[in-house]
Amino acid sequence: MNPMEILHRTPKTNCGECGHPTCLAFAAAVTRAGADINLCPYIDLQGMAVTPLSSKKDLDHLDEQVSGEQDWALVKYLQEKVSKIDFGSIASSVGASWNEHDHDVLSLRYLGQEVKLGKYEILLSNDKAVDPRDQILLYNYVHSCGGRKPDGTWIGLESLPNSISKIRTLATYCEKKIAKLLSGKPAQLLTDLGVQIDGYEGPPELGSTADASLIVPVLPMLPQYLLFWEEDTELGIEAKAKVLFDHNVLDFLDLESLVFSAERFAERLVQLEKNEPQ
Ligand code: SF4
Repeated sequence: MNPMEILHRTPKTNCGECGHPTCLAFAAAVTRAGADINLCPYIDLQGMAVTPLSSKKDLDHLDEQVSGEQDWALVKYLQEKVSKIDFGSIASSVGASWNEHDHDVLSLRYLGQEVKLGKYEILLSNDKAVDPRDQILLYNYVHSCGGRKPDGTWIGLESLPNSISKIRTLATYCEKKIAKLLSGKPAQLLTDLGVQIDGYEGPPELGSTADASLIVPVLPMLPQYLLFWEEDTELGIEAKAKVLFDHNVLDFLDLESLVFSAERFAERLVQLEKNEPQ
């Protein structure tokens, strides 16, 4: 059965009665996971022809669409939760500014950009934040309502509970990217890129073993400490980067969003090095 055919037979109202957030997700579940097509009470099954399976390209495209729709569904869900929060009472706990004339908006910095976070819209540097993943990160951060402030006690991701499955993701999409970016370049490069995203030098004793280091407040209460070691060709050691987090970081973000924030940090450094726009 073709998933697009199933989708076209639903009313596309995304009502959720079938247990899936969208009609597209339902269509994918029927064809991929054998979900019961009758779970949608509104589907029109009359005269439905059986058609060959979609090509891999079609299915990949469908996966992208489903994943995109799920991201937007999560944004909507988080907006609903955040809409119930009194921004004035949590602003200082999440390092944001707030004023009573614009009481449904928080202003904060995100990787060197000015964010205006409203209950149903986010502006990044005065543009609409189009990527739902950024919105998920920002709404999750605000939804935490704050916690214990960072106090300079740095730990690796592996020291956080239940983080084993995320360690490889962090290494692949953040640390290896940064190591590749900085390898063979002057140590000053990291400082030059870092100042553009509000980065600053860490305490000398912590960064002393690294060839370059930098602390970047990815979000106001979410500093990340980047350490970089250059390759040693004689010893056959590859360039390496390591990102450390404050030990109370989970007061502000869940693990998934935390790793995504580190990915965004790496992507931003790469963009800045190439002089690409945000
Ligand atoms: S029950 Fe039907 S109309 Fe509602 S979301 Fe599921 S597939 Fe769409």
